[in-house]
Amino acid sequence: MKKALICGISGQDGAYLAKLLLEKGYSVCGTSRDAQISAFSNLTRLGIRDQVKLESMALTDFRSVLQVLTKVDPDEIYNLAGQSSVGLSFELPVETLESIATGTLNLLEAIRFLVKPIKLYNAGSSECFGDTQGAPADENTPFRPRSPYGVAKATAFWEVANYREAYSIFAASGILFNHESPLRPQRFVTQKIIATAKRIAAGSREMLHLGNTAIRRDWGWAPEYVEAMYLMLQQAQPDDYVIATGQAYSLQEFVAQAFAALDLDWQAHVVIDQSLYRPTEIAHSQGSPAKANRQLGWVAKSAMPEVVRQMVSVHPQ
Ligand code: NDP
Repeated sequence: MKKALICGISGQDGAYLAKLLLEKGYSVCGTSRDAQISAFSNLTRLGIRDQVKLESMALTDFRSVLQVLTKVDPDEIYNLAGQSSVGLSFELPVETLESIATGTLNLLEAIRFLVKPIKLYNAGSSECFGDTQGAPADENTPFRPRSPYGVAKATAFWEVANYREAYSIFAASGILFNHESPLRPQRFVTQKIIATAKRIAAGSREMLHLGNTAIRRDWGWAPEYVEAMYLMLQQAQPDDYVIATGQAYSLQEFVAQAFAALDLDWQAHVVIDQSLYRPTEIAHSQGSPAKANRQLGWVAKSAMPEVVRQMVSVHPQ
């Protein structure tokens, strides 16, 4: 039985990945910064809370990382932990950089120190590319991050590439574009839109306050994206892959789709709020999943309209 360690199991991707790996017969252990107080509500929601082992681990503390790796002795590590909000990274730049870049480095150092054939998946991000200038980015597109989060993810990406080359560690980065689900925390704009639209449909008279709705993003469905993470660690050689739908839509199109699904006209319920604009914003973000299609056999099945439809149908009010 293969053993997987999922760092950040309490989050959206951690919960879906745990479910997938359990279905594949893995023994799954997950970490949280404090496993005693974390509610692990996403695991409960997916009905797998009792099937995973849980450990406390601070990725920024090398001793903590080394202790957990020694205790769990995993075959595969999926690092999904760290400050994950682009917006919040402008308010928490140091926390963002440390949790992502130092966290990833500590995992790589621990694997190097233990001299074991542990495979590592690193949660890279499309935010590394910055604005893709109207064209889809692929694995050869240069990084031009436009947020502290993007800078941190770019740092972690190069740490992984360096340790793979220098020490022959099996480490792979998935450069994932936005992927959504009902398990997304409320601070993310997609979840805010769906939740507010559903409250309005149920009779609330509130308005939906949004920043720049002209931005274009490549939105996919999270349960499909965790499959790609798993596939990356099953290849003969470690490599980096862009994971995306290949289709970009504006935030306004996302909003219109969400309200239309509830028989509402979005224009009657949305207020543009300049205070929600970011210091530096990405106008267009779109990925080319051609390499993942070809080498992993991975293809996104759900683009934005389908993502909205699924979020509207299952999101709790
Ligand atoms: P979530 O925010 O849902 O989960 C991330 C987990 O990391 C949390 O559950 C939390 O676990 C832990 N965490 C949060 N803040 C910190 C911090 N400051 N220091 C250390 N740990 C922290 O993220 P997702 O599941 O959506 O994403 C998984 C990974 O993929 C993240 O690294 C994210 O940046 C990346 N990613 C996500 C994309 C998306 O569209 N969802 C796109 C591209 C990349 P706990 O509180 O239990 O410690």
